[in-house]
Amino acid sequence: MSIEASSKVLAGLQQWRALEAQQQPSWPDSDVLQEVTGELRTRPPLVFAGEADKLTAQLAAAGRGEAFLLQGGDCAETFAESDADRIRNKIRTILQMAAVLTYGASMPVIKMGRMAGQYAKPRSSGMETRDGLTLPVYRGDAVNGHAYTEESRTPDPRRLLEAYHRSATTINLIRAFTGGGFADLREVHQWNRGFMANPAYARYEELAAEIDRAMRFMRACGVDFEALRTTDFFTSHEALLLDYESSMTRIDSRSGRPYNTSAHFLWIGERTRQLEGAHVDLLSRVSNPIGVKLGPGTSAADALALAERLNPENTPGRLTFVTRMGAGRIREVLPQLVEGIHAEGCEVTWVCDPMHGNTFTSESGYKTRDFATVINEVHGFFEVHQSLGTVPGGLHVELTGDDVTEVLGGAEEVDDAALARRYETLVDPRLNHQQSLEMAFDVSEMLRR
Ligand code: PEP
Ligand code: MN
Repeated sequence: MSIEASSKVLAGLQQWRALEAQQQPSWPDSDVLQEVTGELRTRPPLVFAGEADKLTAQLAAAGRGEAFLLQGGDCAETFAESDADRIRNKIRTILQMAAVLTYGASMPVIKMGRMAGQYAKPRSSGMETRDGLTLPVYRGDAVNGHAYTEESRTPDPRRLLEAYHRSATTINLIRAFTGGGFADLREVHQWNRGFMANPAYARYEELAAEIDRAMRFMRACGVDFEALRTTDFFTSHEALLLDYESSMTRIDSRSGRPYNTSAHFLWIGERTRQLEGAHVDLLSRVSNPIGVKLGPGTSAADALALAERLNPENTPGRLTFVTRMGAGRIREVLPQLVEGIHAEGCEVTWVCDPMHGNTFTSESGYKTRDFATVINEVHGFFEVHQSLGTVPGGLHVELTGDDVTEVLGGAEEVDDAALARRYETLVDPRLNHQQSLEMAFDVSEMLRR
């Protein structure tokens, strides 16, 4: 690339500063933000351009129906819970789900965590009042603390550095776990046997027995290759805090192209996807695969304009639309979007987020979701794509590897009274370990038909 061309690229990466950016914290008036972003710019990348390109190719395969994406993790990671046990449990849950889905779909499953960087949240209001005290809302550990005191709720830019460090230690564990024996499919299969031992899941016995037979067949044949022992595991988060995302965006020395080196995959949320806004501008300029969340109010024209803006070269795998319509709306609103995009020949990988359109407050006052409703949206997603002859490319879910009680229902029948038992999320309710596996079995059963 000529010097002139590369200085144009660099200038372009600063263009977002001139545009309107929704959902940014009001950082205190000080030099600390400058110091922190300067420091971040000198820190090593967390992911590499070649890895991001590999993911683009895999997401392109998902768009063609030759692979399936499983993206999962907390609504918001927290510093306090970024410990080895919790990270391992999340990875284990995703690997277990992926094993079941691989069988059901007879396709490779792309494993991706909402992990190692999911530390910032968009909120519906900037301030909240409790007992006469008005304070900024909690925007995720990268911005402020959850405790309801003025000190904790004041945005602190130093938290961006902490978010970087936590992301680094998390991705280090992910790489160690999935490159070592932990991800061995035979191990993962043993864990799923443990899950099936619970009579609550008797409905899936037939499918579990089929998977068991397939594993025994492979063993009898002496099948033992690298792909059984290790797996790729990608990271992702919502690219919300532009000071952080822009500091982590670097020019790849091989290709001369910019990559956001904070995660393999970044997505733009439903609340920050304005066509002329700062988030769309910054992500339009990086070469990672990216996603956009689309809610029930999205028109086909909106989706087309985003596709043209974010993927002008129409590269397969570059753009994923994560639809989050709500179980009650998906069958009515998704078809026109998919048809509109399809009619123009736009390359898009379609993924279903069955969580964010199905949130409500329970009678006892907890923000929750109902497992049956979540599953209903997933079914609606497959039905729409089946009827249009288009490709359902994957699932985006909020989950944890622990036995929390945040989502109602499932075979173990978490009820409103049970929510109080282990409601630990600071933001949105997550499927627990068992509910996550139950979802994988349900979807797998539907896919193998
Ligand atoms: C999220 O993924 O946690 C989120 C806020 O989603 P959305 O942008 O779809 O509302
Ligand atoms: Mn959420």
